[in-house]
Amino acid sequence: MQKAKLALKRYPQHQTIVQISDQVSIGGEALLIVGGPCAVESLAQMEAVASHLGNAPIQALRGGVYKPRTSPYDFQGLGLEGLEILADIRQRYGLPVITEVMAIAQIEAIATYADVLQVGSRNMQNFDLLKALGEINKPVLLKRGLAATLEEFVMAAEYILSHGNPNVILCERGIRSFDTYTRNVLDLGAVVALKQLTHLPVMVDPSHAAGKRELVPDLAKAAIAAGADGVIVECHPEPEQSISDARQALSLPDMVHLAETLQTLASALGRSIPTLSRAGHFPRLSLV
Ligand code: PEP
Ligand code: MN
Repeated sequence: MQKAKLALKRYPQHQTIVQISDQVSIGGEALLIVGGPCAVESLAQMEAVASHLGNAPIQALRGGVYKPRTSPYDFQGLGLEGLEILADIRQRYGLPVITEVMAIAQIEAIATYADVLQVGSRNMQNFDLLKALGEINKPVLLKRGLAATLEEFVMAAEYILSHGNPNVILCERGIRSFDTYTRNVLDLGAVVALKQLTHLPVMVDPSHAAGKRELVPDLAKAAIAAGADGVIVECHPEPEQSISDARQALSLPDMVHLAETLQTLASALGRSIPTLSRAGHFPRLSLV
């Protein structure tokens, strides 16, 4: 870890707080709970998600519109149309949104519509993309590569930081191993180590780590107990019908239940999970 200059803690209490919207931040005492589908599939789907999660202790929505799929024949995401759906939902429901950026050419549009730009595992070492994200000031959620060491992960964050963007959030999402029961292995040791080594907020994605919905809630709890600053969890109005990652999607009631359970756990740990005040945001029927 010798070459990292900007990501490492300089003194024990050194901690960056990344501001996501007026009301939402990560890295402080409040935890960030993010829920939403793997992919944005339709306006109706995202309305169902936002109206269900909007009154729960969940502070941001997720949904991919550019999807990195193993097969080129699988659904690749709605692209710009999906981004417009996210922008509409964000505005009408008063919830910040997180979506993945796969290419430099997508940065401008995503930074215009979304609050946080996610760099997926498969792009953790796409250095040109990281450098370009260093030139904006929107928060970047950097997911750990499928088989990245912690040093490689921290150095990827260093690319964004050294190009001028201090708003980097790290995300552990499971790493490749030999067992096939779980999709990946959730590396909670990495969460503890990253919290000790760096001043950046650390999130956990238990959905892509587990790959099976029945494992997700307990892994989310373990992540918070291990010191994570937040979790990002996949959920869907009709989990079995999800176009991508159906097997790991929670139902919306299960997502709300998880967020409420995490509130109790957070308070035992001296942290909190706020419910957003969304005064002025009365979900209106879309005109689209
Ligand atoms: C996702 O968040 O939908 C995703 C593709 O995650 P990862 O890059 O961690 O596989
Ligand atoms: Mn997914």
